[in-house]
Amino acid sequence: MEVYLAQPRGFCAGVVRAIEIVERALEKYGPPVYVRHEIVHNKYVVESLKNKGAIFVEDLSEVPPLSVTVFSAHGVARSVEEEAAVRGLPVLNATCPLVTKVHNQGKRYMSKGRVLVLIGHAGHPEVEGTMGQVPGPVTLVQNVDDVAALTLPADTPVAYITQTTLSVDDTKDIISALQARFTDIQGPDIRDICYATQNRQSAVRDLSKLVDVILVVGATNSSNSNRLREIGTEVGVASYLIADGSELNPEWLKDAKAVGITAGASAPEVLVDDVIEALRRIGPVKVSVLPGREENIEFRLPAELTAG
Ligand code: SF4
Repeated sequence: MEVYLAQPRGFCAGVVRAIEIVERALEKYGPPVYVRHEIVHNKYVVESLKNKGAIFVEDLSEVPPLSVTVFSAHGVARSVEEEAAVRGLPVLNATCPLVTKVHNQGKRYMSKGRVLVLIGHAGHPEVEGTMGQVPGPVTLVQNVDDVAALTLPADTPVAYITQTTLSVDDTKDIISALQARFTDIQGPDIRDICYATQNRQSAVRDLSKLVDVILVVGATNSSNSNRLREIGTEVGVASYLIADGSELNPEWLKDAKAVGITAGASAPEVLVDDVIEALRRIGPVKVSVLPGREENIEFRLPAELTAG
């Protein structure tokens, strides 16, 4: 069976940085280090860090006094930062710099008196963080229907920002609907969309032209992994989201001559290897990596982890 690997796939620079922050904190301060929310949405990553001494909590009230605390890559609301400050917790912030950029854009728009619209998924930690970072009300829209349902007057000065794990392709219809609905609307430059999200989605579209089945390696609570699976399905290729090789169902491959594999931004390459191994147990495979966009973005670590 032919196996094609999408390129790029898997870890983005924000995820690499977030994991490294926890690892370096464990080395520098010793375990335990507390992490608020899954550092990135992947069980394998979370379990490996747990084994090294990280303790994951959903609420800061679970963190003992003075314990080193890491905020996850998704970002947090100001109320969480304030709670940490009041409790005197030493915090390392692993929020992806691209998420922070969205927070700052939102704050700028609001300071200019615009009504802020956030395009994103309700309940996602990044959306909760962004809504809680800007000093004022935010209107969340998840789709074109939500735009139609807005009751604001057409001449309201509006600005929009987007969840980073949505791509240009995901948001363009919603943005067009907003632009059609409001006469005075501003949004960020297209270049501000997360490069990793866009690249992984373009790569899965390229992959879909060659294969009969797409396997997306990622977690069910990973927004960008779900989106990769949806794109495969939208373009007519049977697509499945699996955590690792153990979830591979041989039935899916019955009539397949070529299988494509990609991985969400929070899924490590070791899990892609695990899926390839699972395919090998079904029959002989020939693995090729597709050509794709080179990524060489790196984000700096917090200064306290790099100094001496
Ligand atoms: S997907 Fe984009 S925004 Fe999210 S962590 Fe990765 S680089 Fe940052």
